[in-house]
Amino acid sequence: MTTISCRTTALVTGLIYSASVPALAQNILELPPARPWSGRSERLLVNPGDKWITPAEAADFKTTPRYAEVRAWLEKLDAASPLLTLHTFGRTGEGRDMLYVRASKGGPAKPVVLVQAGIHSGEIDGKDAGLMLLRDIALRGKDNLLDRVDLVFVPIYNIDGHEQLSAWNFPHLRGPAEKGREANARNIDLNRDYGKADAPETRAMLGLLRELDPILYIDCHVSEGFDMQYDVTFTYAGWGKYARHRATADWLQGRFGPAVTQALTKAGHTPTIYPSPIDTREPTKGIRYSPEGPRYSTGYGDFTSVPTVLVENHMLKPYRQRVLGTYVLLEAALKIAAADAGRIAAAKATDRASRPTELLTRWTPAPQPIGWVEQFKGIAFDTYLSPASGRLEQRWLGQPITFRMPIIGQQPTESVRLPKAWWVPAAQTEVLDRLRLHGIAFETIGTSQTLQLDQVRLLNPKLLQPSEGRVPLAATFVHEPGEQVLPAGSVRVPADQPNGLLAAALLEPESQDSFLAWGFFPEMLSPAPSTDAFVLAALGERLLATEPAVKAAFEAKLRAEPIFAADPNARLAWFYEHAGPGHPYVLQYPIARELN
Ligand SMILES: [Zn+2]
Repeated sequence: MTTISCRTTALVTGLIYSASVPALAQNILELPPARPWSGRSERLLVNPGDKWITPAEAADFKTTPRYAEVRAWLEKLDAASPLLTLHTFGRTGEGRDMLYVRASKGGPAKPVVLVQAGIHSGEIDGKDAGLMLLRDIALRGKDNLLDRVDLVFVPIYNIDGHEQLSAWNFPHLRGPAEKGREANARNIDLNRDYGKADAPETRAMLGLLRELDPILYIDCHVSEGFDMQYDVTFTYAGWGKYARHRATADWLQGRFGPAVTQALTKAGHTPTIYPSPIDTREPTKGIRYSPEGPRYSTGYGDFTSVPTVLVENHMLKPYRQRVLGTYVLLEAALKIAAADAGRIAAAKATDRASRPTELLTRWTPAPQPIGWVEQFKGIAFDTYLSPASGRLEQRWLGQPITFRMPIIGQQPTESVRLPKAWWVPAAQTEVLDRLRLHGIAFETIGTSQTLQLDQVRLLNPKLLQPSEGRVPLAATFVHEPGEQVLPAGSVRVPADQPNGLLAAALLEPESQDSFLAWGFFPEMLSPAPSTDAFVLAALGERLLATEPAVKAAFEAKLRAEPIFAADPNARLAWFYEHAGPGHPYVLQYPIARELN
């Protein structure tokens, strides 16, 4: 038997084994103690015999329903209520229909609040909270939430990952017993894919975002990291201070945050701004605020001026408590969005009319804290020598403590000035396809033009650790002015557009989320074509005899670079490069910049 068929056998055995294990009713691993909790939000639960009990309520939140069950339940609810309609908006990699529910009173078009659950499908609180909320809107008197807004709810964003239920996925979450995976069926994390848009799920979501242009976009997750007393936490790109677009960020920080915090507190929850830890082993080192790139939902919302919220329920709180907290947050979000619909629309318009001239591309932690959380509600821990790891590990003790927590901000280290436009060759179809998906405007020229452009050459390119289905690339960039002939069919992407900053984040080579940084142009790294040595040697000899400038440059290079001097092929390649027009692809970024 070959190695390959052994592996096949092992896989098949594994599948049979997992299928024969009964559904777990509790976490597979022991977790630190949970503090007892009860709150007013428990009143949102229906009685066990209720006809419209959700699958998670019926299971007392020990399990979460699969896709087919969710779909069937929503179809039933849709049939029972004129307020709901179930739609599909794309297909996953494995071919499942992507679903959303629109809850609307009809009439003239209303602004939309878009809520998605399960982008990391093991973090599924939003799905079960959303089903309860939709039921209460459709059948239990909460339809007034739809007086001024529509709710569009995506119950499971990463469906293929969701269906890979296992007790070993997200074992740090206290329920449900079995959870889906983080990434999709091609191991792409959809919350790193908004900008590069590789996954079919992302492409469907970008289409939905463009179609709805929501006034509020909520992305439901569950945290990891460290224990604390807070149960529902949320944040926005850059937590206000480091947002790329101010007006929408100010609305989130000034209006959304306080409204939702008040509602959650009243319902018995303990909310705070999501504390992204510097060091989970030492929480007192502080929490981080920093800018975000458009790879993330929140960063994408910031770049496209759509107020976007990341919800991070705390992993160690019981599933029931987390779902109830999410329900309260979503209901409060609908109310504040309805009350502020005009304000939000104005903030979006302000941001979209703004024309940022710079894009911050690199930053580093600021030496001094930018603020302090005076009374952070933490949980005590001690450490013990683990025979498993051979080092000190944390043991969370369940006891509440408070401490002073520094807020670590960022200082800028590199920004780029936006050009007037970018020029993309017609052959770069991967890039053009994504510009269309993002709704970035461009024009295609019908006749050839010759322009003076800023051209970008790569020095010392390095391929990085593969990530998110790509092989990212790092390099130093040399900007050189040069005349360039742009053939008919070339594409001009102007910076002067509402999505100008997004275009910059995707097209500026220095941007950490650029297509280039994701490794989109591997053709740049192929070696230059060559020809026979006897031809090149004769060419070099002729140049040395007839071109004094070439001769001087060659001799200087021989003196300065012994490795070059000792490499016959490199010497001949140098003459080839210097005799003619050079090669258009090698280490040359194919997108050129039109400066002001
Ligand atoms: Zn997540």
